[in-house]
Amino acid sequence: MRESILSLDEKKLLNIPLVDKPFRAKQIIKSIYKNRIFDFASMTDMPKSLREYLTTNFTILNIKPIKKLESTDGTIKFLFKLTDDNYVESVYLKDKNNRITFCISTQSGCRMGCKFCKTGEMGLKKNLDFTEILSQILYLAQIMDEDQTVVDTAFNIVFMGMGEPLDNFENVTKSIKILNLKDFFDIKESRITISTSGLLDKIPLLYENFPSIKLAVSLITANQKKREEIMPIAKKFTIQQIFDILIKCYQKYQNRITLEYVLIKGFNMSDDDIKDLEIFNNKAFHLNLIPLNHNDNKIQRPEEKEIKLFQQKLENKGFTVTRRYRRGDDIKADCGQLYWDNTKDL
Ligand code: SAH
Ligand code: SF4
Repeated sequence: MRESILSLDEKKLLNIPLVDKPFRAKQIIKSIYKNRIFDFASMTDMPKSLREYLTTNFTILNIKPIKKLESTDGTIKFLFKLTDDNYVESVYLKDKNNRITFCISTQSGCRMGCKFCKTGEMGLKKNLDFTEILSQILYLAQIMDEDQTVVDTAFNIVFMGMGEPLDNFENVTKSIKILNLKDFFDIKESRITISTSGLLDKIPLLYENFPSIKLAVSLITANQKKREEIMPIAKKFTIQQIFDILIKCYQKYQNRITLEYVLIKGFNMSDDDIKDLEIFNNKAFHLNLIPLNHNDNKIQRPEEKEIKLFQQKLENKGFTVTRRYRRGDDIKADCGQLYWDNTKDL
């Protein structure tokens, strides 16, 4: 199978026969990352012989869109097939001011087994290679280029699609380094959010590499027993350990951390749950409330008035709280869902 050229850095590009001068390597990089040209034949500023050589020996994107769902609010969700027949989802999100965020997957499936999560039900199919992560970003960047409503092309990236980013640390950090590079995407660290279920052994290392990156931790509940019930990772890393490590990181980097709190009816929304949360009532943290996005016979989304009341109570206690409003409600824009709806018969 042909290799994706995204796996080659500038130095390695120079080893390709016919890429005889440094500017040729730069030309390839510019064509892909800046001009978003994804077939070599269209790179008409290069000699035909080189384009033919590249076409025979390499691919560019190594993901194939097999489903596209467009919401009335501008959100577009894609299901991609990888070359090994696994699937990932990515979401193109547009806010009220037409600013763009890409929600990117880091694994096909996930092995963390959180009981409220559709991706968790899949189990881990595979860690994405960094070129598969970059392919999602390039594909969505091209969608953005074609979107007439976009004025500010500086996009944000959230690693909140399928998978646990810190469980695929090497490929994720490799892709972020490429995102940062001037000749490639030239994206500031502060525009990138990593969401993790709390793989604490990796968090200090992540900050060492990217001190300004935004970190979001899926806390879900600050009660140790309840967290263990719903998130197997809680048995390995306790709430107290989460607190200790995150506070240390905050003190070192002065970089505020988001705690993601998925609201589950009758599970984590009582006054006792607010008491448990008190240890995180601290300027290092910002609480993001995310109403559960599906209902089944085991867990349910709370009603609107319960959500508002819970948020109000937290605010009264002095927490910094925001609520994540769902984009693309009509197209099931949350990751994991499209996979389940579309692969049953594949
Ligand atoms: N594995 C990482 C990132 C992927 S999940 C993590 O767990 O943080 C991305 C976000 O979706 C997390 O905040 C997670 O808590 C949230 N999420 C998972 N299942 C959900 C559901 N059923 N309803 C609402 N949010 C959910
Ligand atoms: Fe994996 Fe995150 Fe889903 Fe948990 S919430 S199963 S860590 S994707």
